[in-house]
Amino acid sequence: MPGKQMSPARDADWANDAPRLEVLFSADAIATRMDALAREVADRCGRHLLVIAILKGSFIFAADLIRALHRAGSTPEVDFLSLASYGNATVSSGVVTVLRDIETAVAGRDVLLIDDILESGRTLAFAQAHIRERGARQVLTCVLLDKAVTRTANIEADFRAFQCPDVFVVGYGMDKAHRYRELPFVGRIVPS
Ligand code: 5GP
Ligand code: MG
Repeated sequence: MPGKQMSPARDADWANDAPRLEVLFSADAIATRMDALAREVADRCGRHLLVIAILKGSFIFAADLIRALHRAGSTPEVDFLSLASYGNATVSSGVVTVLRDIETAVAGRDVLLIDDILESGRTLAFAQAHIRERGARQVLTCVLLDKAVTRTANIEADFRAFQCPDVFVVGYGMDKAHRYRELPFVGRIVPS
């Protein structure tokens, strides 16, 4: 069977790649931070916020934060906004486009945008403007990682889980060329 012949070779490739990852934020560190972050959000946003997760990179972070929000007493509604700006490269193209829009009416709502990483700020600024245009009452932003770099767009996150060095990271939902999203930690690919 062709599939059977292919998978051992692919498994070997993955195993060979494993040592090249350095853990920056462990699964335990992320889990510990999540409840404190959710309390910060719940204290400021109230119970009935609309959470909009920016796909794909934030899907695991959003899933954990939404459940932490529940533990913090919130009852968030959830929607998803799928944006593209990266392709397969590790350098942003600078152009943000909507791949899939939200379904929820946001007029008058308190919205929390969730993204994986704030770097140049172009993605989050685009998303914030996109939701504001629809008449949201306020659009706050929450990122897993805040990279200490100069912003291109004039935006800072209202909430962040961690500050992050200026390195390319993967795992916990974040990819490089469609790989590594499943890792339970955030790591950097160590150059070989
Ligand atoms: P910005 O638009 O702020 O420059 O970049 C933010 C977006 O770029 C994030 O939502 C994320 O999708 C992507 N990004 C930025 N830095 C990294 C990184 O180190 N690793 C990965 N996988 N994506 C990144
Ligand atoms: Mg992204």
